[in-house]
Amino acid sequence: MQLMIWVDAEGISGVTSWEQVLAGRSRYDEGRRLITQEVNAAVRGAKSAGADKIVVVDCHGAGGEHSFRNLIPELLEPGAEYVFGVPWTTYTLPLEQGCDGAIFLGFHAKSGTPNGVLSHTVSESWLNFYINGEPLGEIAICAGVCGHFGVPVLLVTGDAATCEEAKMTLGEEVKTVCVKEGIGRFSARCLAPQEAWSVIERAVAEVVRQPPKVSPFSPSEPTTIRVEFTTPEHVRNYLHEGVCQVDERTVEVTAENFYAAWRILWRR
Ligand SMILES: [Zn+2]
Repeated sequence: MQLMIWVDAEGISGVTSWEQVLAGRSRYDEGRRLITQEVNAAVRGAKSAGADKIVVVDCHGAGGEHSFRNLIPELLEPGAEYVFGVPWTTYTLPLEQGCDGAIFLGFHAKSGTPNGVLSHTVSESWLNFYINGEPLGEIAICAGVCGHFGVPVLLVTGDAATCEEAKMTLGEEVKTVCVKEGIGRFSARCLAPQEAWSVIERAVAEVVRQPPKVSPFSPSEPTTIRVEFTTPEHVRNYLHEGVCQVDERTVEVTAENFYAAWRILWRR
């Protein structure tokens, strides 16, 4: 099995604050260690179950030089390859070359989710995001990119709200691991990280040995995506060719499929 692991930061066990996941903040080094160790657990699980190729992509925009470079290289588990420094959702080569499944590690719930730890969609400037009128979050965006290449999401880890959103978005069959239960947006009841790592290692091994019957995520076509920003000044950053402005703080793209629409909106 060829596996791709997409790693975000907000849903990593032990993480409850922006201080842990934004570059230059007081606890960023702690956050990086927690992310790295959790990735290592996932890689150990995949290796032990016999995955042939494991490509891990650092997907968290921590800011500046640390965006998509959060994992601490010298601590990483051997036996996988690690992708650093590529803008979010744009590294698709393993998907194109034939990948059997994706794992979303440390993901978070969409903006506005009650008890979603550090919940947001893409940026604090995005109030709501919709695919074909349905309010969705980053799980859907990332799954839509994978799905375009026929790759299903096998496992999603994060807080309880993330696991719930994963099942609502991708179907009940997707496996989830809950590492914390949000108590609001900046507090949570957490597993000890070391315990979370064991649970994740086992869950990854399980989905590699026996992949759940999840279909690749594929919104109906043609596909319309819409972003409502919190305030109007954000609109101008997205007015590329093919993007329509709906009102003073909303933009929309319609294209032949989700991936085409996403690439028009998300020019990176
Ligand atoms: Zn993130």
